[in-house]
Amino acid sequence: MILPADFTFSQSNLQDYRDCPYRFYLRYILHTRWPALVVEDALKFEQRGQSGARFHRLVQQYLLGVPEDRLQALVTSDADPDLSQWWENFLEMIPPLLEGERFVETTLTTSLAEHRILAKYDLILVQPDGHLVIYDWKTSQKKPRKDWLEDRVQTRLYQFILASSGGVLTNQGKVTPEQIEMRYWFAPHRTAPITLHNNTDQFEQDREYFTSLINEIANKPADSFFRTADEARCRFCVYRAHCDRGTLGGDFESLEDSDQQTEEFESLPDFDQISEIEF
Ligand code: SF4
Repeated sequence: MILPADFTFSQSNLQDYRDCPYRFYLRYILHTRWPALVVEDALKFEQRGQSGARFHRLVQQYLLGVPEDRLQALVTSDADPDLSQWWENFLEMIPPLLEGERFVETTLTTSLAEHRILAKYDLILVQPDGHLVIYDWKTSQKKPRKDWLEDRVQTRLYQFILASSGGVLTNQGKVTPEQIEMRYWFAPHRTAPITLHNNTDQFEQDREYFTSLINEIANKPADSFFRTADEARCRFCVYRAHCDRGTLGGDFESLEDSDQQTEEFESLPDFDQISEIEF
């Protein structure tokens, strides 16, 4: 086994493996840093990432009870006009949906195939009727298809870990997959979140799928982490010159239009600062 015994699996490293085993090998086993841009317009990419991070922070503060007028002052003085639009959309669409106990930026872990797996949630809402709703905020312009979201590692892993360990949030020791749903909300759009439901069949499929995926990665010889055959995946990958898959990054607009909306692009908040709950 080439992985350290304490390696923790998360949605980002599992998604990397699924997209390209060689990218996983370079990033998480060799820890290769490669000085390439994800897109050619680095400044625009970085600014959009920072705006996304500021939006996540605003929502976090709102959910923790910081007064709205103080947050509005931050929005008004922000250099990016998109932030103001995202914030207006948020206030219009999301607060009416927030009845229940809030667990803001919470990390849950559990064990599978002798490894730790971890999920970092923007918000878990425990509703009065016992349902648990995972909210995930996105600032990417493109709203993906529901079936694409259903197949994402993030969707499957977040729901699986919450079904496995969410009892610590309800004080009932156990939750069922049927109690869980996941809502992706896209800030540039004044529309309702995209809602995905979980169930016991899906939970069992996900358990089998992640067990098999983790075993496959953990037992793979170093020379078997092959490059993806789908070269479209290389377009926004920092290792493309290393792999001889092109030297120029894609353009920013194409990234926004693509299905490759990476976590780097979203610039998620600093989860190292937040508490972790292990079941
Ligand atoms: S450039 Fe392509 S083949 Fe190389 S690591 Fe990235 S996705 Fe994989």
